[in-house]
Order: sequence, then structure tokens, then C-alpha cells
Amino acid sequence: MSRIVMKFGGTSVGSIDRIQNVSNIVKSVYDEGHEVVVVLSAMAGETDRLINLTKDISDNFSPEEYDVVISSGEQVSVGLLAAALNENGIGASSCLGWQIPILTSNDHKSARIEAIKSELINKILKDKKVCVIPGFQGITSEGRVSTLGRGGSDTSAVAIAAAINADYCDIYTDVDGVYTTDPNKVPEAKRLDKVSYEEMLEMASLGAKVLQTRSVETAMTNNVALRVLSSFANENKEDAGTIVTEEDAINDQRVVTGVTSSLNDCKITLIGVRDKPGIAAKIFSSLSENNINVDMIVQNISESSRTTDITFTIPKDDLLDAEKIMEQIKDDVPYESLLTDSNIAKISIIGVGMRSNAGVAAKMFSILSENDINIDVISTSEIKISILISNEQAEKAVNMLHQSFILDR
Ligand code: ADP
Ligand code: ASP
Ligand code: MG
Repeated sequence: MSRIVMKFGGTSVGSIDRIQNVSNIVKSVYDEGHEVVVVLSAMAGETDRLINLTKDISDNFSPEEYDVVISSGEQVSVGLLAAALNENGIGASSCLGWQIPILTSNDHKSARIEAIKSELINKILKDKKVCVIPGFQGITSEGRVSTLGRGGSDTSAVAIAAAINADYCDIYTDVDGVYTTDPNKVPEAKRLDKVSYEEMLEMASLGAKVLQTRSVETAMTNNVALRVLSSFANENKEDAGTIVTEEDAINDQRVVTGVTSSLNDCKITLIGVRDKPGIAAKIFSSLSENNINVDMIVQNISESSRTTDITFTIPKDDLLDAEKIMEQIKDDVPYESLLTDSNIAKISIIGVGMRSNAGVAAKMFSILSENDINIDVISTSEIKISILISNEQAEKAVNMLHQSFILDR
């Protein structure tokens, strides 16, 4: 007997038929004699609908009430599935984030899970029932409902798996695993049997939305055995799915494991900033104090005028706030002008094999140049290279890089 957390995303519970299908998948695992905890997303499109309702009230909707509204989609799906399981002859009980409780930080809209009490879950499992828990939601130390950021049900599932010492955390979604690139955009994408936590962390944070970045972080820290599976697969596809695991468990010799694309960033350039100590510290600390994550940073020095241009990228959603902040610090950090560009794409290649293979960046840049794609900004880590290009060329860049690094290997 194993203890298994099964998470189903929005499309997997997108209609009553899909919920019946989930009920059958859960039943087949339960009937094998396992202890089963199910974590669910809201029905597909529901969270977007709820967010739009808040926008109809105000652009400055209270963050506490925002979380009350947008966490409600998950409450509906868990009630529906628990009842469907009962109809299917399986004892099941739903419990909401505050009932367990799943304790989070006070950062409404993007709270972090701090602790999960396992008593109630263990009691339901001991009673031979399936425990059905809404993803995405928790409760703060002030007793308010919180949410974990878009795609946060993945993180709920992994954190619950860690808290109850589950043997596996299975993420059921609308594709049958993690692919070399988004299979819905590049039909030639190949499914990966295994991918390392580190590679998956980079892929998720650079645009592969199949897993929320924090879920991979949580799995890596707590050594949770994570599998990505399809809730749409036919039952004979036994070998399908991807295991996210330790690097040592992967034998495949590959330099580049995945190619990602993200259209969620925008670029800000401050022209004519004074070139002296403390300026960059002031700019970036004022952004971080306002919870704005900066990704790429480039600074050019002009020797003659002792001024510099600083370019950086932030999430598109934070652009208006960042512009306001740059205006506020202008007395301390004088600059000539501020330019913004939202028509950009961040394209990345990721692979632990880059550590021991030279020439990957040179090959990447040659492929782009042969295809007439201009690189705006470059950033690298040990296992990834990211570039910023015009968003119109994103599709072509991903296809070309995928063809050259993945399909040719
Ligand atoms: P869920 O609703 O189940 O949480 P998501 O829509 O969040 O599902 O994530 C699944 C989607 O992730 C897929 O439909 C696919 O288009 C996208 N995706 C992006 N990159 C990848 C990748 N490298 N491998 C698999 N899927 C990917
Ligand atoms: N329902 C939430 C969202 O759409 C959380 C999730 O599905 O993971 O972002
Ligand atoms: Mg998701």
C-alpha cells in the first residue's frame, strides 16, 4: 500500500463529465489498496472569471477580499468530486484550506505555505476515505483566507505530499508529461521520461507552465517523488508520464533538455543614470521593497559622460507600479529618460549537460543569427541561457532552437 497525492488541474475538472472521469481515475487507484489524497484546481476558466468580477468592482480591490473571491472556484470542485466519489461507491470527504489548516504567510495573492497540519488528513485516511482538498488556498496567521499565486494548486499538492509523507505526488494534467518544449505549440516536442528537479525548476520559471515554479522548489527541498501524468490518457499508455527526480537518477546524455518561451516580461531602460556606487542598489532595493521581481539586468558604461544606461526586466503586470517607483526615486537617482517595451519574449534553453559542454551559447547565437533574429539582452546560469528578442520572432526562435538542439541530437 502506498500513500498517494493526486492533483488534477483546471481542464481535468472542467466539466461534470471530466469530474466523473477524475472520479474513475481516483477509484482505480483507491481500489488497488492505496491511501489517496486528491488536490483539485477550480474548473477551467473559473479563476479568470472570478478575477474579472473583482475588476468590475475596483482596480484596487482589497487583497484580503480578492483571495476570498478567487479561492472559491476550488471549493466548488472539491465538493463536486467528493460527492461524485460517494456516488461511485467510495467514501470521500472534502476539507478546505482553513479546516486542515494549510497555514500561509500574509502575502495575499501570492502567499507561501508555511506549515500544514496533517491530523485531519490522517484521520480521514484512517477511516478508509479519500480526502479531497482544494489547491491554491490557505489561511494566514491572522485567520484570513489566502491564495498562492496562479497555478498554485501544484504547490498545494506537493506541500501536502511532503506534510503527510506521501510516497508519490502525481500531477494529472492535459498533457501526458513534461516535454522538451510546449507540445501545444511545437508538435515535434518529445516527452521526457525523467527530468531533474533543477532543470524542471528552470523550465517552470522560464515559461513551462506545466508545473508552478514553487511546486518544483518544494518537491526538491522535501525530496517529494513527483510524476506528471495525463488525466486524458487512455489506460493502455502505461509507460507515459514524466518523473521529476534527482539528477543522478537520469542516464540520458543530453546537453539541452528543454526550450522555453515566456511573453510575461517587459523591459525597462533608464537612460543617462549617474555612474557611481549605490545607484543600482537604490533602484533595485526600491523595486524589491515593493515585491517586484527583477529578472535580467544589463548596464552599459559610457566612459566620457560618466553616465550609464541600465536595462532590466520585470513581470508585465508590475509595469505601472515600477514606473511609479522610478518616478518617486528620481531625486535620489537622476536619469534622463525611461523607456519601456512590452513587445518582448524571453527564450531559454535549459540543460544540466551545459555544465560540461562548451560552445552551447555560441551554437545558440549562431542559430538565431542564421534566422535573422536579433538578441536584445542575454543572461546565463550554469544550466540555462536566456535571451530577450522581439515577441514577433518568439515562435520561430523556439522552433529553430528545438530543431537544432533537441531533434538533431
Ligand atoms: P493544469 O490546468 O492541469 O494545471 P496547465 O495549463 O497549468 O495545466 O499546464 C499544462 C500546460 O502546460 C499544457 O497544456 C502545455 O500547453 C503547457 N506546457 C508548457 N510547456 C510545457 C512543457 N515543456 N511540457 C508540457 N507542457 C507544457
Ligand atoms: N485555479 C488557480 C488558477 O487558475 C490555481 C490552479 O489552477 O492551480 O491559477
Ligand atoms: Mg497549472
